[in-house]
Amino acid sequence: MKKQVFIIDTSAILSGRPIRFDNVSIVTTPAVSDELSPGGRDFRTFELLKETGLAIHEPSKEAINRVKKTAQETGDDRRLSFADVEVVALAIDINKEPDQEATILTDDYSIQNVASTLQIKFQGFSQKGITKKFKWVSRCPGCKKQFNEITKICPICGTITKSSLLHKKNL
Ligand SMILES: [Zn+2]
Repeated sequence: MKKQVFIIDTSAILSGRPIRFDNVSIVTTPAVSDELSPGGRDFRTFELLKETGLAIHEPSKEAINRVKKTAQETGDDRRLSFADVEVVALAIDINKEPDQEATILTDDYSIQNVASTLQIKFQGFSQKGITKKFKWVSRCPGCKKQFNEITKICPICGTITKSSLLHKKNL
């Protein structure tokens, strides 16, 4: 069985929810660390997490570039901070290791969207999760059809689709 690695972003740290460390590794990135200002309550939570096993790893440049490119394609690039990009990039690096599997813990919908596009696992923190408020749709860049189910290949013209999240109110 693969070793499970959970990557936490700033929203996960700010949620204040207890994060259990049983049988999993928890990591984050240098830019997430930089987003938490010293002295505040969140910084103390962060320091506590580091003392109890949170490790900080820097993702590769290659993975960062891949995330930036994917975010441009999904339209999430302007909503992602550099810390967000690093979180997804670190998941790419971890998943390259044959004995490890990454899950991103985040409530940020743009991170979730980009992670999903890159086939990276994620989990939300809030009770109203992504499936309640948002729905995935796939759009075909070839024939311009939209599908309310995720489909990788357009069933009409065979083009590879692009998936995105729509707020349910707008469907
Ligand atoms: Zn099509």
